Amino acid sequence: MNTSLSNRINNLPVSATLAMAALGRTLKEQGKDIISLSLGEPDFNTPDFIKEAAKQAIDDNYNSYSPVNGYLDLRQAVCLKFKRDNNLNYTPEQIVVSTGAKQSLANVVLAIVNPGDEVLLPAPYWVSYDAMVNLAEGVSVEIPSSIDTDFKITPAQLEAAITPKTKLIFFNSPNNPSGSVYSKEEYRALADVLAKHPQIYIISDEIYEHIMYNGTAFSFAAFDDMYDRTITVNGLSKAFAMTGWRLGYIGAPAFIAKACTKMQGQSTSGTNSITQRAAIIALEAPVSSISYMVDEFKRRRDLVYQLLSEINGFKLNMPDGAFYFFPDVSYFFGKTIKGKLIKNSFGFSMLLLEDVYVATVSGESFGAPDCLRMSYATSEAQLREAVSRMKTLLDGI
Ligand code: PMP
Ligand code: GLU
Repeated sequence: MNTSLSNRINNLPVSATLAMAALGRTLKEQGKDIISLSLGEPDFNTPDFIKEAAKQAIDDNYNSYSPVNGYLDLRQAVCLKFKRDNNLNYTPEQIVVSTGAKQSLANVVLAIVNPGDEVLLPAPYWVSYDAMVNLAEGVSVEIPSSIDTDFKITPAQLEAAITPKTKLIFFNSPNNPSGSVYSKEEYRALADVLAKHPQIYIISDEIYEHIMYNGTAFSFAAFDDMYDRTITVNGLSKAFAMTGWRLGYIGAPAFIAKACTKMQGQSTSGTNSITQRAAIIALEAPVSSISYMVDEFKRRRDLVYQLLSEINGFKLNMPDGAFYFFPDVSYFFGKTIKGKLIKNSFGFSMLLLEDVYVATVSGESFGAPDCLRMSYATSEAQLREAVSRMKTLLDGI
């Protein structure tokens, strides 16, 4: 703890996903043969038609500040996308374009959470949600789930977690880290509970919506009675293999969109102008233009499921979306492997890193301390090698 720094920053945890990715990179630079299953990002190149649009935007001199909430024609393209893919009616005033869905989420949390407000986090949840709530001085309230319920919460659990202080709940389907997807019926049952508590807002993080292996994902705001209370978050990173381009967006009640624009106007302003121009082309393209990536992720999911099933002690669910496995590895806790006592998921992930050079992310920072996250957004050869190393290490334990 450095007393020259603010309490805010001293209390902020480092992002576990980024920390593990950085550690893997450092070890690789030291010559270690690291296989990274830590960072959740597509291993594809951005499609050529999007790259061409960016090159054109540079030549067309899109070098000035953009409107803080994004170019109007981009926000119109976002509205059309929401209508086409999600059956959601938004107007451009309800859209805010930001520097990644991460900024979109942070804007919303800072715009609506007051100190002491409770924010419900169905666990497992993406690492940064809890940190964002902390930054806003809100109180995170976890609603636990486990692999036995396919990592989904029940309406009774939701009802029990709500208090007069509850201001916000995060939904994320398909889910990072579990890959679970709520059906329309399951979402409706949760919406029925929320309908009784009109003070609660809902963030629906739909960044993995296209990375789905059975059917389509349902948008929470598509329930008429939830529309006015839901902030729909999405972005280009996952669907279009554009993690480094940094573009996310929200569709929200107009007053929330306005508040997020104000927030962003005092921090980063409008996002990268070149990325915004390319985003119009990406969003206008038919969803079929990215299906080759989804097909490949599905093939890898099926392969990794089969390979991981052969490791004794890994309890698995079959993810319906996103590109992660999130096995329960608590079988190994309390056991000594290669002279190391495995106390928890963090200890287990360090064992994999140090002994077989496989980088993963432990479940603690996702609110699921029994589990371990492995991204399968990497080549088949790397996936086969990673699982084979783990199997050799863990055989007979
Ligand atoms: N939400 C979830 C669930 C994520 O996994 C991520 C990580 N990419 C984000 C939001 C943020 O994505 P980005 O900032 O790259 O748009
Ligand atoms: N969202 C990705 C992940 O969960 C990228 C890392 C991050 O932004 O935290 O690994």
